[in-house]
Amino acid sequence: MNLRENTERVFQQIKNASQQAGRENDTVSVIAVTKYVEVSIAEALLSLGVHHIGENRVDKFLEKYNALKDYDLTWHLIGTLQRRKVKDVINYVDYFHALDSVKLAEEIQKRSNRVIKCFLQVNISQEETKHGFSKEELLAALPVLASLDNIEYVGLMTMAPFEASSEELNEIFKATQDLQLEIREKQIPNMPMMDLSMGMSRDYKEAIHHGSTFVRIGTAFFK
Ligand SMILES: *Cc1c(COP(=O)(O)O)cnc(C)c1O
Repeated sequence: MNLRENTERVFQQIKNASQQAGRENDTVSVIAVTKYVEVSIAEALLSLGVHHIGENRVDKFLEKYNALKDYDLTWHLIGTLQRRKVKDVINYVDYFHALDSVKLAEEIQKRSNRVIKCFLQVNISQEETKHGFSKEELLAALPVLASLDNIEYVGLMTMAPFEASSEELNEIFKATQDLQLEIREKQIPNMPMMDLSMGMSRDYKEAIHHGSTFVRIGTAFFK
């Protein structure tokens, strides 16, 4: 693994995809998902221009956070969060990407000591194995979610099925973007909905085409 080459390639690929999609420069942030590597390798990324770190599990998040918290970094918790673990982690998180139920939102409201930026996770493809609100569930939940004032709903997050074709990816990401815009138009004060967390190593291109502002990249950095 050549970390420098990989990192340069990832940034170049994201830049190319952004240009091809007609996006303005620097509208897509790259989150390095460091769940595959130890602290020393995550730390090596920082001198290569990485500013966003993502982890999908609470214990791994806290390990990286405690080791690297003195750096100027933005911290993303990107994976499913159990309600009983909210209190252990939520106040260290800059962005939480997997808000997938009203009950979890209520727990975040209760345990946070400041406003937490959150992505509502949607399961557009209705895959059994994936977490997230369906479109209908989310629209129905908006009033109660909006009443939780320790949460800023910055946008939507989605994960496409592993085996999705390019056509299916385009459908899923477009539907997510459409739903983002539908909610944004409601102009709910704590739901600015300006961001989209979509795209991983294998599907960042389609995601950027459909307005993603945060791509979550793991494998491509560390292969
Ligand atoms: C692991 C993970 C990623 C990164 O996936 P890669 O395919 O390795 O780029 C992105 N999002 C979530 C939620 C993850 O758990």
